[in-house]
Amino acid sequence: MVGLCCAYALHARGVKVTLVDRDPAGDKTSYGNAGALAISECVPHSLPGQIWSIPKWLLDPMGPLSIRPAHIPALLPWLLSYLGHSRKANVAHIAQALQQINGRVNADYDPMLRAIGYADKVRDKGCIRVYDHYKSFKANPIEWRIRKQHGQQYQLLGEDELRRMEPAIGKAKRFGVFQPQWRIIDDPKALVGCLREWLMAQGVAVVAANVDALVMQDKQVIGVKTPQSEQLADLTVVAAGAWSKQLAQQAGEPCLLESERGYNTTLPYPNIELNHELLFAEQMFVAAPLSIGIRVGGASEFAGLNAKPNYQRSDNLLRLAQRYLPDLDTQNGTQWMGHRPSTPDSLPVLGPSKKWPGLAYAFGHSHLGMTQAASSGQMLAEALLAPEIGTDLSAYCISRFS
Ligand SMILES: Cc1cc2nc3c(=O)[nH]c(=O)nc-3n(C[C@H](O)[C@H](O)[C@H](O)COP(=O)(O)OP(=O)(O)OC[C@H]3O[C@@H](n4cnc5c(N)ncnc54)[C@H](O)[C@@H]3O)c2cc1C
Repeated sequence: MVGLCCAYALHARGVKVTLVDRDPAGDKTSYGNAGALAISECVPHSLPGQIWSIPKWLLDPMGPLSIRPAHIPALLPWLLSYLGHSRKANVAHIAQALQQINGRVNADYDPMLRAIGYADKVRDKGCIRVYDHYKSFKANPIEWRIRKQHGQQYQLLGEDELRRMEPAIGKAKRFGVFQPQWRIIDDPKALVGCLREWLMAQGVAVVAANVDALVMQDKQVIGVKTPQSEQLADLTVVAAGAWSKQLAQQAGEPCLLESERGYNTTLPYPNIELNHELLFAEQMFVAAPLSIGIRVGGASEFAGLNAKPNYQRSDNLLRLAQRYLPDLDTQNGTQWMGHRPSTPDSLPVLGPSKKWPGLAYAFGHSHLGMTQAASSGQMLAEALLAPEIGTDLSAYCISRFS
């Protein structure tokens, strides 16, 4: 989605674009996510005091976090950096930088959705963050303080109001917070397909091939190398999601990027209706009402890019969902695992390379890649082609890892 949105924004400014993707049908992370434009989520993942919850999460088989032991040595630098970003000063800076993107999501998405004919399939449903009780909501003041500071809207819901707005929620949940700004994409895969086909119809070339390496000549990047050919270009944008690190490394620009694997199950006949995206705050999973059914998902698993999926995690999430949505029919579901491209500071890598003329980056959007894709494309295009606008990408520069 991020690569397609970069292509959209560059094409709109008159640039001739070629997309090179080994899986152009879009079956990677942008395919199976929860479909939320989570506009009000300017809260960094690493927060003060969170370190004390991590052991509990890791030990709970139904918990939101798992790390495969074999992956710990490779993960360590990322993990230490993640924990370091929980300091208050970092949190304030990161929230501001997330807000810089999220604050323009509607302005960047809506014209694109209208142009490609998908506008009526992104719905202003909002999200309800569901808690066991008011006390659990009060236990996390920082995240709400950050949202408030950045002008995000939310409304507290007592038990009666919660059940009136979302009758499918069972008795175990007694408190909610409604966040009206969230929007829901009917079917993320369909949106990706619609945008890709629209771009192709406009003359954007799509080459189905693996990018093995960047092509470098005379101290600049001049394209990419695939097993079949070299695709030469004045500008190369690395937007390969969780697989981007290797290409950045080749350019001598290291970054801390991990696959934060997430799981879900899409239930085509869920037997209940949801009016909003539901985010179960303590258990950290979502139930998303898509046009193709209810998608129950979440989990953060660190196991690298190549380890086999552990669909036990999808099963666990379904069991949790049944606990809180008692009439949910969990049969006939389709399971999925995807690689969130996650940086330790919750910020994407966005902008031109500091080392190489002809090279730029757009990856690392973690939990917010669908939300931030259109704006990332536009911001990159503005920084590269319309400097007079003054779009400041310094917070997202890859050199922050050096
Ligand atoms: C369970 C789950 C739920 C989520 N829910 C949400 C949500 O509700 N809202 C939200 O905003 N975000 C959500 N996300 C996050 C979001 O899905 C990702 O941030 C986003 O999809 C990343 O998009 P991308 O384009 O960067 O990466 P991808 O969609 O992974 O695309 C990367 C592309 O690069 C290609 N590629 C990689 N390497 C190469 C190579 N060497 N050569 C050629 N091609 C290559 C791949 O084939 C792929 O097409 C969720 C993620 C998960 C896992």
